[in-house]
Amino acid sequence: MIDPRQILHDVFGFPSFREGQEEIVRAVLAGEDVLAVMPTGAGKSLCYQLPTLARQGLTLVVSPLIALMRDQVAALRHFGIEAGSLNSANDAEENRRVAEAVREGRMRLLYASPERLANTGAPEWLARAGVNLLAIDEAHCVSQWGHDFRPEYALLGDVRRRLGGVQTIALTATADVATRSDIVERLFEGEPRLFIHGFDRPNLRLAMQAKENTRRQLFSFLDKHRHESGIVYCSSRDSTEKLADALSQAGYRALPYHAGMAQAERARNQDMFLQEDGIVMVATVAFGMGIDKPDVRFVAHAALPKSIEAYYQEIGRAGRDGEAADTLTLYGLDDMRLRRLQIEESESSDEQKRVERQRLNALVALCEAPRCRRQTLLAYFGESAEPCGNCDLCIDGVMSFDGTVEAQKLLSAIVRTGERFGTEHLISILVGEETEAVRRFGHAQLRTFGVGADRSKAEWRSLLRQIYAAGLVSLELTEYGRWTLTEKGVAVLKGQERIELRSDVLMKPRERRRRRA
Ligand code: ADP
Ligand code: ZN
Repeated sequence: MIDPRQILHDVFGFPSFREGQEEIVRAVLAGEDVLAVMPTGAGKSLCYQLPTLARQGLTLVVSPLIALMRDQVAALRHFGIEAGSLNSANDAEENRRVAEAVREGRMRLLYASPERLANTGAPEWLARAGVNLLAIDEAHCVSQWGHDFRPEYALLGDVRRRLGGVQTIALTATADVATRSDIVERLFEGEPRLFIHGFDRPNLRLAMQAKENTRRQLFSFLDKHRHESGIVYCSSRDSTEKLADALSQAGYRALPYHAGMAQAERARNQDMFLQEDGIVMVATVAFGMGIDKPDVRFVAHAALPKSIEAYYQEIGRAGRDGEAADTLTLYGLDDMRLRRLQIEESESSDEQKRVERQRLNALVALCEAPRCRRQTLLAYFGESAEPCGNCDLCIDGVMSFDGTVEAQKLLSAIVRTGERFGTEHLISILVGEETEAVRRFGHAQLRTFGVGADRSKAEWRSLLRQIYAAGLVSLELTEYGRWTLTEKGVAVLKGQERIELRSDVLMKPRERRRRRA
């Protein structure tokens, strides 16, 4: 076996491995099955190409896109490596070249589409030719929970068996747990070695704030980024136009972007954003797919994104050049309810909805995270990290207190009203406000009525978000969204468990600054 570093240097011309690559290469060379999760551009291909060259034999690479296969084959041949592909776009000449190189044992990397393998006798033929590694690119395509599900991918487990149970490496950029377990279940015999690397984007500053005054919070963030290019994501078409107008009036070069605009206008705004400096794109999530502008200096969310994956994708559009970039995400209970509603009202299957709910809950938990945001975010992707020093929680610190009594007040208000009410009604009860609904239901007679009068409604909203993020309550969707207790909530209510909550988020920003000073 040739030393991997030697090949890295001599064949690929790279001075060093990128994060994660060397460990994966070594695991493959040790004969292990591998699932490698790394973001796009992190260098996944090398993780099977290099081991192929370090030993004998043929690697079969499954890839869903013909264009991608062609690029890879061309690049490998450029490095002097025998490579080819089996796909419907090949001419007879190319097919002959490929078949001959496989037969003579010269072929090192053979690319094929999943349908080409699943629906023909190719696996048996290739097994005889001696495939000793199966590499499955874009492996998340086996999962129904992704956006890229391809039924042919589900047949690849069978292809692997037809190849004689050959050693397998699956690669994907999609890291969430549901997708990962689908990949393992459908493509592997036992548990593969799992590698997750490269999700951290240390140059992105992370910050999230509960909405107090959305406009003011956004303007104060943008004021730090005058004359820089950036994106502000809004949750509706209408709000993008309004905010773009307001920003223009405040002297920014701001443009709206959403799917409801005329095609020509949308294209023009996008081109301006790409070609000129200092434009603020005020957009719905329709903006950003496939947009590669390296010097986007900030991304702000005027409302909570759809899921933790969406959050990661969207902030990831900033700072592609590796230079410092800033992010801010604003969130409120209304956003959380809206997002839940969108999930429940979608056409998805129950199973799919369950997964989407988890992804949203993970984001809610990130909003109210008690420690470094980056640690919390990376933990979701399965990567561990030290406190980053580049997020609001690391920089400003968090102040926490034993919030068991506060939590119990909320939980008890929920239980005593029969787990049938939404946020505002519960908070009215706690602060002792005699609203029309409170009178109608006779809730002023409850023992919890007024027990939270020492705190403002805004504080109770934050406390409710926090106990939601901590998994003490869940949100059932009715018109107003009703709160119910989880098992953990019951344990806290009974005093069997205690809970730490954050006190800094309960203060007004000015007070917060004063306390810290
Ligand atoms: P992915 O499949 O993860 O999206 P690729 O395998 O296409 O990424 O690699 C992205 C780019 O990074 C390619 O141009 C590749 O040549 C380059 N690359 C991969 N590994 C290294 C390395 N160790 N050093 C420098 N460049 C690398
Ligand atoms: Zn941090």
